[in-house]
Amino acid sequence: MAQPETGPIAAKPHIKFDPDGKPFIEAHRCRACGAVTADARLACPACASRDGFDAFRVKQTGKLIAYSIVKRSYPGIATPFVSAIAAFDGGLALKANLVGVGFEPEAIAPNIEVRLTFNEALGRTDAEGRAYVGYQFEPQKS
Ligand SMILES: [Zn+2]
Repeated sequence: MAQPETGPIAAKPHIKFDPDGKPFIEAHRCRACGAVTADARLACPACASRDGFDAFRVKQTGKLIAYSIVKRSYPGIATPFVSAIAAFDGGLALKANLVGVGFEPEAIAPNIEVRLTFNEALGRTDAEGRAYVGYQFEPQKS
């Protein structure tokens, strides 16, 4: 669905909103080889096919693949934070911050199950005060 004219704004092009205004990630699966990308493309980055892609809604459950604990960054960016890559059930890997964990390696178990959650992207708004929506990962509660 297209970006609604009122309400929150997607901070990234692959964040979409369903008819109820709930955000989700839309990914694209290659019709030739099944490779998954976040953004629509003319040709598949895996097999170079131009047969097209099928869009799908990414599941919000997945596994942590890798992370880095960031202890210094640009001015205005609060540290520490955990920059992570997670692979989501049914396809697509994304990079985002992992929240709800400590900032030492011992606090983050390898291959933990994570959930994709949406947030107001650092409290940023457009000129009309509409909030941007971003996403993050959280450990799944068992
Ligand atoms: Zn392909």
